[in-house]
Amino acid sequence: MELIFAEATPPGRGGVSILRISGDGARSLAERLAGPLPQPRHAYFRKIVVNGEMLDQGLVIWFESGQSFTGEEVAELQLHGAPVIFRRMHQILFSQGLRLAEAGEFTRRAFLNGRMDLSEIEGLGDLLSAETESQRLMALRTSNGELARKADDWRTLLIRAGALVESSVDFADEDVPDDVPLEVFDLLARFRDELDCQINGYGAAERIRNGFEVAIVGPPNAGKSSLLNRIARRDVALVSDMAGTTRDIIELRLDLRGLAVTMLDTAGLRETQDGIEGLGIERARSRAAAADLRVHLSLDGNVDGALWHPEDLIVASKADLGFTGIGLAVSSLTGQGLDRMLDVVFEKLSHMAAGAQLVSHERQLAALTDARAALTIDSKLPAELIAESIRNASTSLDRLLGRIGAEDYLDVIFTSFCIGK
Ligand code: GDP
Repeated sequence: MELIFAEATPPGRGGVSILRISGDGARSLAERLAGPLPQPRHAYFRKIVVNGEMLDQGLVIWFESGQSFTGEEVAELQLHGAPVIFRRMHQILFSQGLRLAEAGEFTRRAFLNGRMDLSEIEGLGDLLSAETESQRLMALRTSNGELARKADDWRTLLIRAGALVESSVDFADEDVPDDVPLEVFDLLARFRDELDCQINGYGAAERIRNGFEVAIVGPPNAGKSSLLNRIARRDVALVSDMAGTTRDIIELRLDLRGLAVTMLDTAGLRETQDGIEGLGIERARSRAAAADLRVHLSLDGNVDGALWHPEDLIVASKADLGFTGIGLAVSSLTGQGLDRMLDVVFEKLSHMAAGAQLVSHERQLAALTDARAALTIDSKLPAELIAESIRNASTSLDRLLGRIGAEDYLDVIFTSFCIGK
C-alpha cells in the first residue's frame, strides 16, 4: 500500500503533534529520520535529523503490519506542536514521495485490511463527534465491536439452523416432503426476538445519537424566547414586548444531564395577516408537532389543543408575576422553577431513551429489517425455501458488517471523518 501521512492531532499550536505514517516502508522511513528503531510498539526518544540538520526531537514508535490501527506498517512521530515543524515535516515527506491522507483514509485502510467492520467504523465516527455522555457511551459500545459480535453470534445461529435444514433434505426422493427439525424454528424464533429488540430500540438509539428535540410552544408573549435565553444563559433569541418578533425557529443545542437535546423556540403561535410571519408559524407548528416533547408555556393554564400530546408538559410562565397554580411554574426573570422543569424534561426524555440498543444508524436498521423480513416464514414451507430464507438473512448480516455492499457507504461515512483519522 502506498505510503500516506497526516497529523492525527488537530493543526495549530500545541504541546505535541502526532504525525502518523501508514503503508509499506513506514518503518524504514521513520528510521531514516530518527535512526534505528529496533522494536515495534516501543517509544524511542529521538532527534529528527534531515540532511544533517536537526529538525525537532520527540517520541517515535512503529507498528508492524497486522498490529496497527490500519493493519499496515505504521510509524508515529510525536513532535512539538508548532506550525513551522508541521510545515517542514510535510515538505520532507512530500519530497520522499509520500502523499497526504484523505479524510478517514487511515480508517478506510483499517476496513479494507479487515481490522474494523462497517458498524465499528460508524461507532468510531459517532465517538469522534460525541458531545454528551450518552452519545459517548453508545458510540464506545459500537466502536468496540459490540454490534459486530452480536452479528457474529447471529450468524453462528443461522449457520446451525441452515445446516439442520440441509441435513433434513432427502435429495434422493424429491416427491416426499422433508421434515424440518423443530430445533430450526426455535433457533429462528430466538434470532427474530433479538432482531425485534434491536429494531424496536432504533428510535431511541437514533435520538441519543442525533439528539432529542424539545419545542417550547405557547401564544405570543408567553415568554418562550425569554425562557430559551434563560436556559442558554446567553442571548440566542430576540426578546421583545411586541408580539410576533420571533419569526424563525431558534435552536439551542444542550447537554441536558448527558442527553443531547435541541430546544426549539417557535414563532408566536397566533393568527396573523403578515405573510412572512404566517410562513414562520406554519414551519414552527409542523416542527413543534414533530418534536419529541413540547413544553407548553401558558399564562392561564390553557394549551394549544392541536399540538398537545399526552406526554407534554404544561408550564406556567412568569411565575414571578404570580401566574402559577398548574403544577410546574417558571420565571425567566428570576430563574425560579427552571431546574425543576429541566428535571422533568430530562426524566421524560430518559424514559424515551430507555429502549435504546445498539442499532442507531438507518443503514444498520435497514440490514436488520431485511434479515427480519427474510425470516418471517411459515414452518410449512418446503425445506429448500426455508434454507433460502436463512441464506438471505445471513446475507443481510453480511451487509450490516460491510462484508458486502460496503462501497456504497464508505464515501458517505468518511466525509464526516477528519484528515488524520
Ligand atoms: P414569546 O413571544 O413567547 O417569545 O415571549 P417573550 O420571551 O418575547 O416575552 C414576552 C414579554 O414577557 C417580554 O416583555 C418579556 O420580558 C416578558 N417576560 C418573559 N418571561 C418573563 C418572566 O418570567 N417574568 C416576567 N416578569 N416577564 C417575562
